[in-house]
Amino acid sequence: MYIFKKITDLQRLIRQSGVPVGFAPTMGALHDGHLELIRMAKQDGCLAVASIFVNPTQFNDPKDLEKYPRMPEKDAALLDSAGCDVLFIPSVEEVYPPGVDLTVSLDFGALDQVMEGKFRPGHFKGMATVVNRLLDIVRPQRLYMGQKDYQQLSIVRDMIRQLQLPVELVMCPTVREPDGLAMSSRNLRLSLEMRGIAPIIHQTLQWAKKALEAGQSASVIQEEALEKLQAAGLTPEYFEIVNGITLLPVTSAKEATSIVACTAAFAGEVRLIDNLVFK
Ligand code: AMP
Repeated sequence: MYIFKKITDLQRLIRQSGVPVGFAPTMGALHDGHLELIRMAKQDGCLAVASIFVNPTQFNDPKDLEKYPRMPEKDAALLDSAGCDVLFIPSVEEVYPPGVDLTVSLDFGALDQVMEGKFRPGHFKGMATVVNRLLDIVRPQRLYMGQKDYQQLSIVRDMIRQLQLPVELVMCPTVREPDGLAMSSRNLRLSLEMRGIAPIIHQTLQWAKKALEAGQSASVIQEEALEKLQAAGLTPEYFEIVNGITLLPVTSAKEATSIVACTAAFAGEVRLIDNLVFK
């Protein structure tokens, strides 16, 4: 596996390869969910390129940025074992050259206002900016991202549409621990007690799916779901059942062709998100 810190070195290798590029941007502290993106890119016959960049502009809480786990050597070994061809691990100055404003200021309508948008102001602007910048650097044919961050994926899809970027977005299903907890770099920071409690998130999403299918109203399910998470010892921020395309609330299972439930909850000091596509 090649490891590059500089854009020019990365671009030289990509130009020479002559193979379609499949790109998976990450913030490191890698787990099997990340590696699945690389495996998918390889299965699709791509030159698999991963990036590790803890993007400062998408953290609204400086403490969260500071505490974000960093383990580049271990990550590189994991990527190599998953068949990754190239790792791009740039500095902040390489991604954001001083004095150059690369901010993406698109209007995403409701997509970046609801759910995570309400609780993490500025997060999606930072995320869209870094994804756009990395796409401009790597110029992949295919972009691999996880369903785990459903709202992020919806916004990136909309950014690709609005800017007419020449890239195909590929969604990778959420990879979970055996007890249902969605894999996340943040899981490393969970206390033993919270690690034991956290699978309630996936269980509650599954319960909500059944309840909606049984005809219960979305608003009642949402209230009960928040109560379940709280009773288990988590501090939920939201639990919303929304249209899978617009991310706007739905009231019943019949209302939309695509429905997804998304939730965020604190497990101690660690903020976890998860979702389940109902249909
Ligand atoms: P992150 O390093 O958290 O920014 O995630 C990098 C990419 O990996 C994003 O596209 C995430 O959606 C994806 N990802 C993170 N966790 C998982 C998971 N458990 N299953 C599948 N994809 C994931």
